[in-house]
Amino acid sequence: MTTTPGTEIVELSTGVYARLHAGLTNAGIIIGDNGVLVIDSLRVPSFARDLIQDVRHVTDKPIQYVVDTHSHWDHAWGNEEFPDATIIAHSNARKEMLDVEWNRQWREKVVSAGDPWSEEAKLVNITPPDLTFENTMQLYFGGREINLVYLGKAHTSGDIFIHLPEEKILFTGDVAQDGGIPFLGDSYPSDWLSTDDRLIEIESDRFVSGHGPIGNHAALVDARDFIHELVGNVMTSIAENEPQDSASNTVVTKMQYRFGHWRGFESLADKVPEVYHKLNV
Ligand SMILES: [Zn+2]
Repeated sequence: MTTTPGTEIVELSTGVYARLHAGLTNAGIIIGDNGVLVIDSLRVPSFARDLIQDVRHVTDKPIQYVVDTHSHWDHAWGNEEFPDATIIAHSNARKEMLDVEWNRQWREKVVSAGDPWSEEAKLVNITPPDLTFENTMQLYFGGREINLVYLGKAHTSGDIFIHLPEEKILFTGDVAQDGGIPFLGDSYPSDWLSTDDRLIEIESDRFVSGHGPIGNHAALVDARDFIHELVGNVMTSIAENEPQDSASNTVVTKMQYRFGHWRGFESLADKVPEVYHKLNV
């Protein structure tokens, strides 16, 4: 099966696929009786069209639902390419997608980055979800139960998890990665702790993150531990009146032993200040 260069489609269970994109953003594909559910629409319309083409490698059924794990551009700015699908997300994710100033800042950042998709990002018509929920939503799709679950704020204000209880599979968006440091810029560090504690209680053997490889439950616990250690160490620095710059170094040094080999660890020193700022209230 020849998919978009850099991507790989992995069948996790009959009709359930992870579409992994090396170094970029992953998606999910779940096939029902009469249609397809896609998890995350990706960064710009051309990426969404590539995803749609790759869905055609596994089924010719129409895409009926798009579930946005959260509002971030690299997960949801392809929404406009699914005009016939119902787009589902958390109500807070919808609020973020309608926040003009927040999106202006994101667009400026993406456009000025000079990436291959930067020009196209200028033209994206940010398309908020049609259907939102607060706590949970169940879909019965192709004889399969799919639970959409909100566990609190974390990586953004509106992260949701897609849980297949029978198959023990979770799609975690950017809340948890297998051995990767998440983006912390829009995060809610103190809420993230309890969200992660609830996440690891959900029965799962494997999880598909928004970035990186497929993880097992032990890796999900590691992702929880990372956030707990990060927040705990930053809180200690704040309690000891350690200035922000020095705190970054202290936190990185303390976390090196366990997380130093993770993807993106070299960027942790630059990410600590925003956590420090949010916790120093
Ligand atoms: Zn994100």
